[in-house]
Parts: sequence; structure tokens; C-alpha cells
Amino acid sequence: MSEYSHILVAVDLTEESMQVTKRACALRNAFAAELSCVHVIEPLSLAYGGDIPMDLSTIQDQIQETAKTHLGEFASTLSISAANQHLIFGRPETEIHALAEQIGADLIVVGSHGRTGLALLLGSTANGVLHGATCDVLAVRVGT
Ligand code: AMP
Repeated sequence: MSEYSHILVAVDLTEESMQVTKRACALRNAFAAELSCVHVIEPLSLAYGGDIPMDLSTIQDQIQETAKTHLGEFASTLSISAANQHLIFGRPETEIHALAEQIGADLIVVGSHGRTGLALLLGSTANGVLHGATCDVLAVRVGT
């Protein structure tokens, strides 16, 4: 089996993140690899564009502060150093790919809901990360 030296786990900061991260931690231990984590905040302006005629910056700042706190707490329980915690604005798939290249990750770990039917057609973050990744991607089944 090839070895992994730097694993990047993508977390949406829901309760399911722990399931995904546990798998990433097991691989970190098995390969004595470095472990980084990332949470991507989707800008409200991207999601809602000009649909809401109000200044969203205060809400956006609150979302960022909350995410920063949760990511920090989450990462510290897993002994992930501050330097390996990444909070980024943008589209999850795009930013996860860019960060993986930037830090030289050779494995990305994401959660996957194993959708069926219409939800499958609409796609998922796991699917988006798999397509276009330049390293291995492990999709951990969650929420079943
Ligand atoms: P979803 O496609 O939203 O069901 O998410 C599946 C998995 O994609 C999650 O378990 C995470 O691994 C990853 N993911 C989803 N949203 C984000 C996000 N905003 N930042 C980082 N990873 C995410």
C-alpha cells in the first residue's frame, strides 16, 4: 500500500464531521502522516447575490467568527495544530482543491451521504471534490 504523508480532511462542522475526521485520524496514525483540516465558508453574496437588498456583512462576520471558534475547538480535540487549521471563503470544491495543492496534500478525506435519485443528480460536495482532484480522495460514508 502506498503511504500518505499529508492528509487533508474537509469538515462542514456538522456532527457528522467527527465520523469523517475519525477516519482521517486513523490514517494519520497508520501512516504517521501530517493532518490538516479545512472548512470553507460560502459567502452569502455568492448564495444570494442581489436577491436580498440589505448589507450582509455583519451576518457574514458573525458566521466567520462562529466557524473559526468551532473549527478551533474541533481541531484541538484532534490535536491538529493551529497552522494546519484552514478557514477559507469560497466554493467548497474549488477551495479544497486549491488548498490540497498548496499544502501538498496527497489524500483528501470528505464525507459522503450516498445520495440517490434527484439528490444524486444534483451532486454533492464529495462528488465535486473527487472530480478535479490531483490526489487521492477518500469518501467516508456518513449519515446512514
Ligand atoms: P455534502 O455534500 O454537503 O453532503 O457534504 C459532504 C462532505 O463534504 C462533508 O462531510 C465534508 O467533508 C465536505 N464539505 C461539505 N461542505 C463543506 C464546507 N463548507 N467546508 C469543508 N468541507 C465541506
